Amino acid sequence: MRAMVLEAPGQPLREADLPLPTPNAGQVLIRVHACGVCRTDLHIVDGELPRPKLPLVLGHQIVGVVAARGDGATRFHEGDRVGVPWLGYTDGTCRYCRAGRENLCDHARFTGYDIDGGYAEYTMADERFCFPIPDGYPDPRAAPLLCAGLIGYRSLRLAGDAERLGLYGFGSSAHLIAQVARSQGRRIFAFTRDGDTESQNFARSLGAEWAGGSSEAPPEKLDAAIIFAAVGELVPAALRALDKGGTVVCAGIHMSDIPSFPYEILWEERGIRSVANLTRQDGEEFLALAARVPIQTAITTFPLAEANTALDRVRRGPLDGSAVIVMDATLVGGDLSSQSR
Ligand SMILES: [Zn+2]
Ligand SMILES: [Zn+2]
Repeated sequence: MRAMVLEAPGQPLREADLPLPTPNAGQVLIRVHACGVCRTDLHIVDGELPRPKLPLVLGHQIVGVVAARGDGATRFHEGDRVGVPWLGYTDGTCRYCRAGRENLCDHARFTGYDIDGGYAEYTMADERFCFPIPDGYPDPRAAPLLCAGLIGYRSLRLAGDAERLGLYGFGSSAHLIAQVARSQGRRIFAFTRDGDTESQNFARSLGAEWAGGSSEAPPEKLDAAIIFAAVGELVPAALRALDKGGTVVCAGIHMSDIPSFPYEILWEERGIRSVANLTRQDGEEFLALAARVPIQTAITTFPLAEANTALDRVRRGPLDGSAVIVMDATLVGGDLSSQSR
């Protein structure tokens, strides 16, 4: 099978022909149709996360169909459409798992990091960690739901019942979560790189009542802010935009250092917290919600062989939506119509 392989951090992915894997007990072999590109993939390529499996097939927003099943794998049938997220395995026995916090499992394994992921024609997954994909989403449009959507949803949940919500970094995650937040009656304030009027217009088109540069003050104080950009300087900036009692939620797995700041911008019960990984319950809740809202995903597609181009495009700055690798070359291009498959 064709795959794009990371041999070592700091190097471009290399196109390779790998043996087709055989599913072990409890696993499914999945023929990949689409795989979303996540900022976390860039952090892995750049060596900012400490211990990837090497060589590694990246990709943890996988949509495909079950092609074969290992012993005892009975949850899905061959031909079923499934999604594979970042959380690929938990031990089920540690104190976090037992407390319903499997996102913090001591022995968790992650797709496209500890386990080969979806930048390939086929991938393998533990069936217990796969999700059925809601009808109504063509494969490439479903892919961004699996991390950008899911982690964004967990971040939104941890922002509490905030009515005035700031979103810092209006790319893959924010464009999905803004739609959820609007459907819940929240008010959206979008922050982009200073001068990025294109992203600001994109945010307004998705219901943001205000959009501006991240160095600007919003027209009124915020009840919560979610930071999707991997930029530590945004933490004090977001704190300054918060009303009393507000929370800053950092959604990413890696961020540049947070500069020191005066205690007074944290004072009055403002808080800062991070979001780590997902639980399977997050995924089930979010995918049901996605279909109900319904969340529209804006995508730009790339063929598998151009995975490095897709990563560069994500590195350059927020796309209007999500970058997605597709295996069927006829689907490559700008935003796909929702009818195409
Ligand atoms: Zn555990
Ligand atoms: Zn991700």
